[in-house]
Amino acid sequence: MWFRISRNDSDPGEALGHVESGRMLVMLNRNNYWQCAYLIPKGTAGKLQQAGLDNFRDSIADISPFLRDRLHEISSWEDVKLLTVEVDRLRRWYRPGLICIGDAAHAMSPIGGVGINLAVQDAAAAANILAEPLRRGIVTIDTLKQVQDRREFPARVTQRLQIVVQNKVIAPALTNKSERPKAPLFLKMMQWPLLRRLPGRLLAFGVRPEHIHTMAA
Ligand SMILES: Cc1cc2nc3c(=O)[nH]c(=O)nc-3n(C[C@H](O)[C@H](O)[C@H](O)COP(=O)(O)OP(=O)(O)OC[C@H]3O[C@@H](n4cnc5c(N)ncnc54)[C@H](O)[C@@H]3O)c2cc1C
Repeated sequence: MWFRISRNDSDPGEALGHVESGRMLVMLNRNNYWQCAYLIPKGTAGKLQQAGLDNFRDSIADISPFLRDRLHEISSWEDVKLLTVEVDRLRRWYRPGLICIGDAAHAMSPIGGVGINLAVQDAAAAANILAEPLRRGIVTIDTLKQVQDRREFPARVTQRLQIVVQNKVIAPALTNKSERPKAPLFLKMMQWPLLRRLPGRLLAFGVRPEHIHTMAA
């Protein structure tokens, strides 16, 4: 469930992830507001809405008490958008006259916030592969296939990593209501200085970084 809450200067500056028994709130700092994701198991949005907006606000305030004085900003369910998470890919990204890239080719989970990076990298790769054949007017099905051949691997690996985080971190946190979930070993290892850079690099540059190689127009 996605919503916005205004951000005060005295709030923490970094992105926050709060995990409590059976609940999870992710907050992204967008300068003057927090982009918030309240995670719920698939198919339970109706139950949450039936329990009422006050109940929803209380639940957020429990996890993140410093938001309590601003939760009136969620004035109706209209302010809370349900994003149903899908992780899938087209088997074939192209047909004569058509190439799918970005979300059209692979629906990413919001984990890591990498959807935009992958979409832009797909676009850079597609430009590199298609610009010259398009200029000469000879784009074959094989040319289109090259785009999928280059970009399917990073989409596949990134989705695999998202599914590992989903299964090892998020699903246990949402289903275990009795105790506060413990971070799995691979997350704890990310506190080591050498390993700490790894997720940042992976999120920023992706599995297969792309650079524009087309001729200046
Ligand atoms: C609530 C939410 C939060 C997100 N947060 C993040 C985040 O923090 N970080 C991140 O990396 N990703 C995030 N994403 C995912 C990210 O938005 C997508 O992965 C990314 O925008 C995909 O880019 P795209 O170019 O493939 O598709 P889009 O950005 O969806 O672009 C497709 C465009 O095509 C247009 N269009 C559709 N149909 C037609 C038509 N018939 N004719 C003409 N135009 C058409 C649409 O209007 C749209 O402008 C989020 C997604 C959602 C829904």
